[in-house]
Amino acid sequence: MPLFVAADRLPIFIQINADQPESVPSMSKAESTGKSDSGKIEMSEQEWRGKLTPEQFYVTRKHGTERAFSHPYHEEKSTGMYRCVCCGAPLFSSETKFDSGTGWPSFYAPAGDEAVSEHDDRSFFMRRTEVRCAKCDAHLGHVFPDGPKPTGARYCINGVALDLEPDASPGDKSSE
Ligand SMILES: [Zn+2]
Repeated sequence: MPLFVAADRLPIFIQINADQPESVPSMSKAESTGKSDSGKIEMSEQEWRGKLTPEQFYVTRKHGTERAFSHPYHEEKSTGMYRCVCCGAPLFSSETKFDSGTGWPSFYAPAGDEAVSEHDDRSFFMRRTEVRCAKCDAHLGHVFPDGPKPTGARYCINGVALDLEPDASPGDKSSE
């Protein structure tokens, strides 16, 4: 009896595999929280190329790294919000910025719990944690566990991936 069941099932599995060789089970989509799908920005490489400068494109879309001390943001002291240069999402507040001495803008925390996503990066024979914009997947830099209090994290970010929106200067309003 069991033999019949086995023989009956086998062709079905083969048929499914043959029909959908590359398809992803739709289950996984239902299981996900939907967080990553909501408001996610997806553009083609060509579209990003048209929107960004060559250096911005190289760093954010090709996982490049700017030279240390090459971008003025590494010593920027203005207060404001550092936004994603690709999509404008708020990524890091100047309140969490600190001078790491590395030559890259450094922060001890992202602007929000869902501002950035973290990914295992094993390139260049190192094991690092890559940081991306959660909204458009722009490569931003890496996070290391040797940062200051209160988090102990050091988000080492390429200045070219950021766009500082300074706080509105107080006292500019001329009201009578
Ligand atoms: Zn972005």
